[in-house]
Amino acid sequence: MPLTVIVLGSSAGGGLPQWNCNCPQCAAARAGDPRVPSRNQSSLAVSADGERWLLCNASPDVRTQLAHTSALHPRALRHSAIAAVALTNADIDHATGLLILREGGAPPVYCTPRTERALTEGLRVLPALAAYGDVVVRPLTPGAEEPVVIRDRAGDDIGVRLRAFTVASKPPPYMLPLLSAAEAADLHAGDTVGFELSAADGAASVVYVPGVRDLDTALHARLSGAGLVLIDGTFFTDDELVASGASQKTSRMMGHAPLSGDDGLLAFLQTVTGPRKALVHINNSNPALRADSAERAHIEACGVAVANDGDVFVVG
Ligand SMILES: [Zn+2]
Repeated sequence: MPLTVIVLGSSAGGGLPQWNCNCPQCAAARAGDPRVPSRNQSSLAVSADGERWLLCNASPDVRTQLAHTSALHPRALRHSAIAAVALTNADIDHATGLLILREGGAPPVYCTPRTERALTEGLRVLPALAAYGDVVVRPLTPGAEEPVVIRDRAGDDIGVRLRAFTVASKPPPYMLPLLSAAEAADLHAGDTVGFELSAADGAASVVYVPGVRDLDTALHARLSGAGLVLIDGTFFTDDELVASGASQKTSRMMGHAPLSGDDGLLAFLQTVTGPRKALVHINNSNPALRADSAERAHIEACGVAVANDGDVFVVG
């Protein structure tokens, strides 16, 4: 059974253009330059049957994303093709879309205990949603051998399996006042995970990692076994935001391996043979967003695509 993946949003937090940014990419997207199309914030939809979809991350753009994706339109007076939601972390660009899905009660939410805590105590999204209907949270255990069977709100198996794996990451900034020093310092507590998605028969597999800093052998093995890799294209260079004057933080300080450099993600991906590879979660500062840029040409020469909103991948 193949899996179908729709890229609902290929941008990192802020989207393209970002509301308060006038960098070259944001300015071009705002002006309607066809070389720099606008992008929604980070999200995928995944299905084994084309009817019931798992939303991977719920971005604040979810209303627009669903409106523009016919496979996800309601098929009855009150209906949603979104059977469940799975979150890779509790970042604002990945989780606040849950608030948009409140009518009729939000779909079941799959996340790690750390993400559930962030959504409960930090963003308070889950307590807010509970006022509109039962909120069902189903746990993801990073590193568990057995994949989780994704079920809709009625408990029916939708034919999608999910394994979560930990990536080194800090808690979301809004959680820092609520965590002990030891909790905040634990980079492997499950604040951010990647997903390995497969069909019920195990045939197709998609690895989805919108945020990753450490490019280690475990990740290499996981990517090598996949049919499709959708991975962190946040920054092209480590000092991208520093050099532009937009921030004091480097790519790695923000939990993202930069694309370029001998120790960057592109060099790493060149050693991963087998899967199709595409970048998602691309920050608006990334010059590769421009279709005719040298950076885009370099990425494509490495055998990696830059995913666009609306791209559809069929795997398996
Ligand atoms: Zn910008």
